[in-house]
Amino acid sequence: MLTGLMQDRPLLISSLIEHAANCHPHAEIVSRTSEGPIHRCTYADIQRRAKQVARALTVLGVQPGDRIATLAWNGYRHMELYYGVSGMGAVLHTINPRLFPEQIEYIANHAEDQYLFFDLGFVPLLEKLAGSMPTVRGFVVMTDREHLPECSLPGLLCYEDLIGAQGSEGGDGGDGEDGEHYEWPQFAETTASSLCYTSGTTGNPKGVLYSHRSSVLHSWAACSVDGLALGSSETALLVVPMFHVNAWGMPYAGAMSGARLVMPGPALDGKSVYELMRDEKVTLALGVPTVWLMLLQYVDTVGLTPRDELCLRRVVIGGASAPRAMSERFATSFGAFVVHAWGMTEMSPLGTVCNLLPKHQGDTLEKRLAVQEKQGRAVYGVDMKIVDDDGARLAQDGRSAGHLLVRGPWITSGYYRDESGGTIDGDGFFDTGDVATIDADGYMQITDRSKDVIKSGGEWISSIALENAAIGHPAVAEAAVIGVAHAKWQERPLLIVVRKRGQELTRESMLQFLQGRVANWWLPDDVAFVDQLPHTATGKLQKMKLREMFEDYRLPTA
Ligand code: ADP
Repeated sequence: MLTGLMQDRPLLISSLIEHAANCHPHAEIVSRTSEGPIHRCTYADIQRRAKQVARALTVLGVQPGDRIATLAWNGYRHMELYYGVSGMGAVLHTINPRLFPEQIEYIANHAEDQYLFFDLGFVPLLEKLAGSMPTVRGFVVMTDREHLPECSLPGLLCYEDLIGAQGSEGGDGGDGEDGEHYEWPQFAETTASSLCYTSGTTGNPKGVLYSHRSSVLHSWAACSVDGLALGSSETALLVVPMFHVNAWGMPYAGAMSGARLVMPGPALDGKSVYELMRDEKVTLALGVPTVWLMLLQYVDTVGLTPRDELCLRRVVIGGASAPRAMSERFATSFGAFVVHAWGMTEMSPLGTVCNLLPKHQGDTLEKRLAVQEKQGRAVYGVDMKIVDDDGARLAQDGRSAGHLLVRGPWITSGYYRDESGGTIDGDGFFDTGDVATIDADGYMQITDRSKDVIKSGGEWISSIALENAAIGHPAVAEAAVIGVAHAKWQERPLLIVVRKRGQELTRESMLQFLQGRVANWWLPDDVAFVDQLPHTATGKLQKMKLREMFEDYRLPTA
């Protein structure tokens, strides 16, 4: 083979913030802070302060490869840590604060975190857990001296003091190098950059360890036009948390593209999100369906007219299926296009994005919504196939449903310090645990998690399709479908519904609504009403919990 004569520059995360500081220095990062007020800074500020973070960590004795944890909402200091920690060669471990305390303790110990940076609101949680995190040498509260909390955490450090000491005036007085003149170290692009644990609905959470290379390549895919098309003309609201798969890679893609970023901090309720969209003239917003549900409920309750008040053009929905009714609402009330996307922690997370093709132009809203129900086409870099139980490839005909397998440079090759063995098959494919169809245009549609599929008389019923149909009823706030044992059919669907506040809905009218919207043999055998549904730490329906709740339930048809 003849080697090409191109420069072998490593793809490092530090190069993203350097680019932003050079080419988009004035683009803003707007944050709602834990202290309260809105904070504004620029990519140039983030770069300067990220270097101070890197320098401060060096002074603290942090070595390349050490894990540095965060327990924090979306905000500029968190973004500084994204660049400062990974940029100096350490590994940023973003912990999901919504996990159970025992899970947080487990992952901090499994990752052997050295320092833990946290937002003000997590003081009580950490006071309980600090004693059982023996590897953590110090806790850094992400605030200034003025807001320093009274607390009993051992070795408590104040973020602004810590990095302020590395400003041009500060320096550490040692080798004459201060934060502002810090040069990012150069190292192999395959070096680990960040660590994120999956919520682990069964067993312990598993660590996905990203590399600089995977993060930079993923950013390119996110910025590409048929990806999420992030660019310098967008103001992107990151409702997806920075502890959930690196906020879908947006802090990196933001710097690559120069997009203006808006960070909502801890306030994810409908009112706060709406006001931020309005006041900051947000054009693109990203989040899971549950937060959009809260936003839509707020809009309904107050009787707002988002189309007149907002500049929202696109809403990226992923993490769980975007129901057709939700895409329709965004189209009609907001004038915004829902970009349905699919991925997972193990995939950095971007796998597929549902953008329309030229042939869809001029289609009616009805027809477009049918396309938008699908999770979309693979972005370049993600190689995808569906297979049957024996591993044989299935046709891409939009009907054959099978196990969805993926491979690519930002897809995991194995979990961090995992004793359970391999996750990759002989051809390098990772089994996503999802069941899907792929149509002739390459649009993939998730029909279920493989463990949630309802097996009725040897055929599969898609719980997701039923849920999305049910959600279309104006009185339904949320819906879940689980399989319940049935003597004749093995399993039959049970629909579990949360009614909208103050709305009437009977079993009969619900079933009547579904008739004609799904295949007849898919119709649920019964409907149960509950006040709320259980969710995971990342906002997904907790089907396992639901199956437990309805363990003794007997279908009227059984
Ligand atoms: P967790 O941290 O809860 O494990 P992940 O974000 O890694 O969360 O979960 C990935 C899973 O979420 C996917 O395998 C899939 O089942 C589901 N998922 C993600 N996006 C979508 C989508 N657009 N539609 C349906 N399911 C989705």
